Amino acid sequence: MIQIQEFKSLLSQPGKIMITTHYKPDGDALGSSLGLSLVLKSMGHDVLVISPSDFPQYLAWLPEADQIQIFPGNEEFCKGFIEDCQLIFCLDFNHLKRIHELGLVIEKSAAPKIMIDHHLEPQGFEDLAFWDTEASSTCQLIYTFLDQLNLKAFINKAVATCLYTGVMTDSGSFRFPRSGPELHRIAANLIESGADNVDIYERINGSQPLNRIQFLGYCLSNKLVIVKEFHTAFLSINRDELKQFEIETGETDGIVNYALGIESIKLAVFFIERDEKVKLSLRSKGNFPANEMASRYFSGGGHLNAAGGESDLSLDETIKKFYSILPEYRQLLVT
Ligand code: 5GP
Ligand code: MN
Repeated sequence: MIQIQEFKSLLSQPGKIMITTHYKPDGDALGSSLGLSLVLKSMGHDVLVISPSDFPQYLAWLPEADQIQIFPGNEEFCKGFIEDCQLIFCLDFNHLKRIHELGLVIEKSAAPKIMIDHHLEPQGFEDLAFWDTEASSTCQLIYTFLDQLNLKAFINKAVATCLYTGVMTDSGSFRFPRSGPELHRIAANLIESGADNVDIYERINGSQPLNRIQFLGYCLSNKLVIVKEFHTAFLSINRDELKQFEIETGETDGIVNYALGIESIKLAVFFIERDEKVKLSLRSKGNFPANEMASRYFSGGGHLNAAGGESDLSLDETIKKFYSILPEYRQLLVT
C-alpha cells in the first residue's frame, strides 16, 4: 500500500517520463510500453518510448508504434531526453544487460527507475518494482498497476489494444500455465474497453509474410534435429539462411514451439546465428528449468518453460556445447 502511494506521488506532477523495454521487443514488451505511454500522455506527461533495438514488423500497427525512438542511430536525441527526464519505466525486463548500450545511459541517470516485470531473478537496479513472476505478462501487470492507482478510466480503445496484444502473445493466446481466471477477467475488461480480440489475433497471427511461412516450412523439413535419448529437439539457422529467406527481426519468434509440440519432447531449442552472436530460444515442458540451463550456460534467463540466452561461440561450437551439457540434465529429461 505504501508503495502505491510512492507510485502515485511520482506521477502526481506532469513531467518528462522515459519508457523502455528489452532488446528485440515482442508483443508484451511493446504492448506494455505503448499502453502505459498512452495513459501517461493522457494524464499530461511528456512521454518517450525508447527501444534498445529495432522491433518486428508484425507489431508496427500498434497505436503510436511509429513514435518509438530506436536507440541505435538516435543516441544523442535519446540521451538528451533521458538526461532531462524525471522518471524512467523499465518494462518486461529486470537486468540492464537486456537493453544493451542503453543500460549504461540509464545507469547514469538520476531519475527514479520503476521496473514492471514478470521475469525471475531481478538484478535490483531499480528504485521501485512492481514485479510478479506469477503474472502471465507485463501487460497484465500494467493493467493491475493502473487498477491499483485508480487510473483505469484512462484505458481507452488504443490502450486496451496495446495491453490485449501483450496478454495474448505472452500467454500463447491464453493457453500457457499462467492463463488463469484473473487473466481472462482482465482480457474481458480490455475487450469491453475497446480491444478487438479477433482483429488483434488476425494482425499478429493471420497476416504473416509469405517468406516467413516458407521459412517455417524450411526449418521444420530441413533443420529439425531430434535427440531421442534426451527427449530434446532443436533447430539451428545460420546467417546465410536468414538472408536467403529475408527473415527480419521477430520473424523467428514462435518457431521453437513447433519443436516442443512433438510427441515426447520435453526440451526444444532454436539456435539463431545473428550478426554478433548466436541467440538461443529455449522452451520446455513440465519441470524442466529452461531458465536455469539458459543462465548457467548461455548468459541468459527467463521463465521455467521459456527462456533465452546467447553464445559468443560459432553456431557449430554452440551446438557442440549444448550436446555436451545434455547428459547433466538426463534425470529431468528422461523421467
Ligand atoms: P525468446 O526465446 O522468446 O526470445 O525468450 C523467451 C523468454 O526468455 C522471454 O521471457 C525473454 O524475456 C527471456 N529471454 C530471452 N532472451 C534472454 C536473454 O538473453 N537473457 C535473459 N535473462 N532472458 C532472456
Ligand atoms: Mn513478457
